[in-house]
Amino acid sequence: MSSLFAKIIAREIPADIVYEDDLTLAFRDIAPQAPVHILIIPKREIATVNDVMPADEAALGRLLRVAAKLAASEGIAQDGYRLIVNCNEHGGQEVFHLHLHLLGGRNLGPMLARQT
Ligand code: 5GP
Repeated sequence: MSSLFAKIIAREIPADIVYEDDLTLAFRDIAPQAPVHILIIPKREIATVNDVMPADEAALGRLLRVAAKLAASEGIAQDGYRLIVNCNEHGGQEVFHLHLHLLGGRNLGPMLARQT
């Protein structure tokens, strides 16, 4: 295992871990973009959405269930939140270990900022 997030899974670098199960790990983003900003990742090192295999379906389904569970425990489920998965350059992906951003705690506004 080599990616940054693989090192977090292996506890080789520190993170504020908020949830773990057999398939997934969730921890707070180091540079939060909202009052609640949690990254939920599959333990298997999948680089991007383009690399998802049929065998990953259970883990990826679990990501959504963990997101809902954490939204409830963080107190943002009723007001609402946003889930984001970035892919490659145009998607703005910086860490090549697939991850689901859970963002909430304030009104996040329109989905995309208008840029040209
Ligand atoms: P991406 O742009 O790839 O979708 O998102 C990567 C996210 O990982 C960014 O929101 C960034 O702040 C977060 N991140 C990068 N390095 C670290 C780290 O070492 N620890 C934590 N907890 N988050 C990180």
